Amino acid sequence: MAVVEKGEVGCMASGANAAVITSMSSLWESRAMFALGKVNIDEYERFNEEWGRDLEFERCGYLPLIETESQLEERKASVEARLKMDVTGLRLVQREELLELEPNVAPDLFGAEFRTTDGHINVLYLMCALADKVREMGVHIHEHTQAVDIKAENGQVKSVITTNGEIGTKYIVNACGVAAPAIGKMVGIKIPIIANREQFLVTEEVQNLIRRPIISVSYYKDLDRAAATAETVAFAANPQKKGNLLIGGMNDFVGIDKRTTLRAYQAISKTAMRYLPVLKSQPVHIIRGYANYYVHTPDGQPILGKVDDLDGFIMAGGLNDYGMSVGAGVGKSIAELICFGESSIPLEGFRLSRFR
Ligand SMILES: Cc1cc2nc3c(=O)[nH]c(=O)nc-3n(C[C@H](O)[C@H](O)[C@H](O)COP(=O)(O)OP(=O)(O)OC[C@H]3O[C@@H](n4cnc5c(N)ncnc54)[C@H](O)[C@@H]3O)c2cc1C
Repeated sequence: MAVVEKGEVGCMASGANAAVITSMSSLWESRAMFALGKVNIDEYERFNEEWGRDLEFERCGYLPLIETESQLEERKASVEARLKMDVTGLRLVQREELLELEPNVAPDLFGAEFRTTDGHINVLYLMCALADKVREMGVHIHEHTQAVDIKAENGQVKSVITTNGEIGTKYIVNACGVAAPAIGKMVGIKIPIIANREQFLVTEEVQNLIRRPIISVSYYKDLDRAAATAETVAFAANPQKKGNLLIGGMNDFVGIDKRTTLRAYQAISKTAMRYLPVLKSQPVHIIRGYANYYVHTPDGQPILGKVDDLDGFIMAGGLNDYGMSVGAGVGKSIAELICFGESSIPLEGFRLSRFR
C-alpha cells in the first residue's frame, strides 16, 4: 500500500483547521453519518490511549452558542431530530447553565446546544502520529510526489502516474480534498465540489478563558455557499491543551490562496470580543494566523465509496466542514470496503452517483 502526497502529510486542511471533534453535527442528515462520527471519536480515544503519544484529545464537550429566540426554536427541532437518530449526550442549556459552564461568554446569549461528549484534539500531533503509525505498518508515504494521471483498462484502474514514477494498483482512493475534482478529471469523472478559504487566528497561551470549544450557531448560515463570492466572518474558538486559543473565522472564495490577511485578523478579533467580552479588558496577543480550504458538496454530505463505470476507483472526500470529525470513521469504512467488499456502516447514501 502506498500514500501519494503532493506536499507533506497534513499540509492542507487536515493540518490547519479548528480541531473540534463532533459526533453529532447539526449538518448531518443520516444515521450513517452519525455512525461515522461515533466510530471516529471512539478511534481518537483509542489512538490517544494505545499509541503512547499524547494527541491532546479530550472529551471536554462542545457548545454551539444560541443568540436569538428563533435560533433557539430551530435548535430545539434540530436536537430532537438528532436524538431520534440515536445520538446521545446532546441537550440544550439555558443562559444560567451556559454561564456556569463558560463564565466568560457574553451574558446576553440565550443559551447553547451542549454536546457533552464531543471534544478536541491537536491536529498537528494527530497528523504526525498517523504518519508514523502508517509507516510502522509498512506503508510507504511518498511525500512531495504528485499524482498527475491515472491509467485504466477495460473499466478497471491499473496505475497512478506520479511526478516520481508509476505505481501499479487495483485500487485508488481519491482523498485529495480540494483537489479531488482534478483527480476525477484524470478518468473522466466529475466531482461536484466547491471550496472556500477560511482563516483562523492562534493566540498566546491564556488560562481559563474558556474550557471547551464554542461556536456561534449562525456560523454555517453566515457562510453563503450558494453565492460563492461572499466574504463572511463568524465566530468559533477552541482552547488547545496548553492554553492557546484557535479563533475563527473569515471565509471567502479566492481560489487556491493560503495567504492570511490583516483584514481577517481585524474582523475575527472584533467578532471574538462580541462573544468573549472579557477580551476588551484583558487583551490577548495573537501569535499567528493560518488559512485553508473547506470543500462543499451540493447537499452538504460527503462523497464516499465506489463509483459507477470504473472499478477500483474509490472516493473518500467532500468532507465539508467536519472532516476531522469523520476522517478516522471514513478511513476505517473505506478499508473495510476494499478488504471485505462492504463496510459495516452503509456508504450507499454517500455515493457520487446521487448527483447524476
Ligand atoms: C479553517 C478550517 C477549520 C476547520 N475546522 C474543523 C473542525 O473543527 N472540525 C472538523 O471536523 N473539521 C474541520 N474542518 C474541515 C476539515 O479540516 C476537513 O474536512 C478535512 O481536513 C479534509 O480532509 P481531507 O483529507 O479530505 O483533505 P486534506 O486534508 O486537504 O488532504 C488532501 C491531501 O491531498 C493532497 N493532494 C492534493 N492533490 C494531490 C495530488 N494530485 N497528488 C498527491 N496528493 C495530492 C494534498 O496535498 C493534501 O495533503 C476545518 C477546515 C478548515 C479549512
